[in-house]
Amino acid sequence: MIGSLADRYARWGAAGPAHDLDPRAAQYVADVLGPPAPAPAVALSQVEPGPPRLEARAMAALTGAVGAANVRTDRESRLAHAGGLSYVDLLERRSARHPEVPDAVVFPGSHDDVVGLLAAAESGRFAVVPFGGGTSVVGGVRPDAGGLSGVVAISFDRMAELLDVDTVSGTARVQPGMTGPVLERLLAARGLTWGHVPQSWERASLGGYSATRSAGQSSTGYGRSDATVEAMVVATPRGTLRLGRAPSSAAGPDLRALFLGSEGVLGIITEVTLRVRRAPSTRWFEAIMLPDLDAGLEAFRELAQARACADVMRLSDLPETRATMHMSGPTGRTASAMDAYLKVRRVTDGVMAIVGWDGTSAGQVRSRRSMAFDILRRHGAASLGRGAGESWLRHRFEGPYLRDTLMDHGYLVETLETATSWAQLAQLRESVTSALTASLGHSYVMAHVSHVYETGASLYITALACAGPDQAARWRAAKQSASEAIVAHGATITHHHGIGSDHAPWLEAEVGPMGVDLLRAVKAHLDPHGILNPGVLLPASE
Ligand SMILES: Cc1cc2nc3c(=O)[nH]c(=O)nc-3n(C[C@H](O)[C@H](O)[C@H](O)COP(=O)(O)OP(=O)(O)OC[C@H]3O[C@@H](n4cnc5c(N)ncnc54)[C@H](O)[C@@H]3O)c2cc1C
Repeated sequence: MIGSLADRYARWGAAGPAHDLDPRAAQYVADVLGPPAPAPAVALSQVEPGPPRLEARAMAALTGAVGAANVRTDRESRLAHAGGLSYVDLLERRSARHPEVPDAVVFPGSHDDVVGLLAAAESGRFAVVPFGGGTSVVGGVRPDAGGLSGVVAISFDRMAELLDVDTVSGTARVQPGMTGPVLERLLAARGLTWGHVPQSWERASLGGYSATRSAGQSSTGYGRSDATVEAMVVATPRGTLRLGRAPSSAAGPDLRALFLGSEGVLGIITEVTLRVRRAPSTRWFEAIMLPDLDAGLEAFRELAQARACADVMRLSDLPETRATMHMSGPTGRTASAMDAYLKVRRVTDGVMAIVGWDGTSAGQVRSRRSMAFDILRRHGAASLGRGAGESWLRHRFEGPYLRDTLMDHGYLVETLETATSWAQLAQLRESVTSALTASLGHSYVMAHVSHVYETGASLYITALACAGPDQAARWRAAKQSASEAIVAHGATITHHHGIGSDHAPWLEAEVGPMGVDLLRAVKAHLDPHGILNPGVLLPASE
């Protein structure tokens, strides 16, 4: 857990000048979105959850499972597990005096503790919400009792060990509460890396990554998190599954896939064996400019299909390029490099991309870069240099802090993501950004491609809108329009955030009615009393 409750209850990071907008960026935001209208949050001291609802019998079962010291019902623990970190989650917590919170938080120390907890929940008929880093942005950790007698958040803070590293095979056995920074530090001591770096890296957990199939900033090169899971142990109310016993197998359908992305509704992941690799000794990041988005998409497609991808490949559209240029601040190397590019080319526009390579030797990185640049240049790419690329690398975790600041100023700020084929990508971006703009009114919508495959790519869209009343309703309407546009294009409702409760209404569009029935049947088998994470993944039944 990071920071004090005050710092993370309704924000990503601590409030204060460290993350305030510099004057140039603040002016740009005001020019584009209109003046700020700060809406002060309710002071944390005035926030009081209702009394815990669990009966004495349920509490006794909980303490029997994990020990009294590992069951907490105090105000601070319950508030710290109040839900995820979507814009609407944060907005609602900023204004709520009596927020929805779990009735208790439990801290199991082992797989057997988790098995005991599930048995306690079944007999006491209360719901459990597996709570990793709590960084879900799709309503995956809301304290929803689902009609049961109460809801208990399961924290994995006591299950956060690196259990074993097989340096010969390149695997690491890890408990679910481990975070990326700790894992990478421990692996680095053995010359290894996992390489999964989402923007939520500071807080998210290994269990959460597997349960949501998250993708990181380097997943074009390192693979998305689910692709790196060699084996896993899952506790379900029906018993324990130990899945994955070789690098590859033809032993029927791959049952790991049932739990990767299952978002806590089918079982609780208590251990994951990850594929790790030799840590890079060399890293080369640079920013490039391309004449326009079409040229950039063609270049990225060709790189993917020629198997010449960089490990990080990120292509901004024109609005995002402009925002980057203005928001990099007066000392931002990106902004000055872009200014120079535009002047030399005598053009006013172009789109920016970040490309980055990790390697175990300088020669390897040089030759991969040179192969990629042969393609990029054919599409009109010009390098802005390593300074601009390294500046992105240094600042790549600042987005969530900036969101806090924009929210402090009363602006609406949220993201969504999807993926589709290369053939559909440009049109999908157009449709989704138009749907958002039409719904939001006075707004600024921008997008980038950040995960690249041979057949297509992901699209990550950020929407900013002027300050105004009822921003939560405003965003929900916009998200509905954007989701309808995504579905109309036959694209996926989520490339990496997961379904949670927010996307559950669109699961049927994704997998069809029979797919939903199949998942319901699996859920009924594994979790017959419906104690696991009610309201998540599966759409509400009619
Ligand atoms: C600022 C910000 C940036 C983000 N950037 C990215 C990004 O770059 N890429 C990306 O993919 N996502 C991103 N996300 C979304 C989020 O970080 C990911 O979904 C992440 O995988 C969630 O991990 P977590 O540990 O926080 O899980 P939680 O939020 O705690 O849980 C997520 C889901 O998994 C379930 N769960 C958690 N642990 C377990 C377990 N052990 N067993 C079974 N189920 C479990 C929960 O019940 C819930 O349904 C971002 C979120 C934020 C707020």
